Amino acid sequence: MSLHLSSLPPRLDSIDCPLLRQHDVVLNVLRLDLMHPHLHGNKWFKLQPNVEYALAQQMPTILSFGGAYSNHLYALAAAGKQFGLRTIGMVRGELVQPLNPVLGFAQQQGMELVAVSRTEYRRKSEPEFIEQLRQRFGAFHLVPEGGGNELGVTGCTQIVRLLEWQSTERPRYIGLACGTGTTLAGVVIGLHATRSQPLPTVLGVGVVNAPGYLRQEVARRLPLACVPTWSMLEDYHGGGYGKTSPALQAFLTEFSRYSTIPLEPVYTGKLLQGLFDQIRQGLIPAGAEVLALHSGGIY
Ligand SMILES: *Cc1c(COP(=O)(O)O)cnc(C)c1O
Repeated sequence: MSLHLSSLPPRLDSIDCPLLRQHDVVLNVLRLDLMHPHLHGNKWFKLQPNVEYALAQQMPTILSFGGAYSNHLYALAAAGKQFGLRTIGMVRGELVQPLNPVLGFAQQQGMELVAVSRTEYRRKSEPEFIEQLRQRFGAFHLVPEGGGNELGVTGCTQIVRLLEWQSTERPRYIGLACGTGTTLAGVVIGLHATRSQPLPTVLGVGVVNAPGYLRQEVARRLPLACVPTWSMLEDYHGGGYGKTSPALQAFLTEFSRYSTIPLEPVYTGKLLQGLFDQIRQGLIPAGAEVLALHSGGIY
């Protein structure tokens, strides 16, 4: 089964600014965020195989976890509505009324929102806790926080089909923001499968402050002999998930002078800040062509 989502092919936006010209680096942004009004960015790629899996069950239901501003719960709620699934969103902390725009949208789409205390939330992968949830809500397909399961990785391999390059000579780089590393793992596996030449180097920009964690998460998901070179840049989290720094704010202001591409400070802002810094330092070499994946996050 393959679900059809009427979506637009993503657009490629180029960025022009003195730094890029100085370093002779081509930087384009693949606008996955424009593909669908709600199921946009990287979240639909992760959800699609999960939705297919759930729809094949008797009582198609997906239960998942997220914070109060979870892009993942937002997309899951929209997918539930579109494909006739029951969706249950376990939200960390309290459900503050009136609901914020993310949770308000999720509820409008028919998602059942359930507040989970921070202490309980930490038990989200414990079999005993999940069993209690099954007794409470009935059978469901469990999708972990952020959509980071095997099916999510498989879905993200499809992103590779959308990559577009402008030059055959320039060394190729792909940049993407990483929260769980699921998308990066999928892209690396997808590239490996296509054996496209020349193989791009994949750069993940970590948005959480947990040294070594994302690298390990990605490595554990990759088959041993996965060819494309990838690395996780861990210096651009700006203090941690959802945190911002004066440097990030300054970068976002500077970026808005060169481009109308919308960025937010949680994911795509840190991604572009990281890529610009790598170019400035020559770690992304002169002459390179960089494709940044705009993974969404703007509503
Ligand atoms: C969820 C999300 C990510 C992170 O994706 P992972 O697969 O968890 O690494 C990146 N960008 C945006 C906008 C997101 O919402």
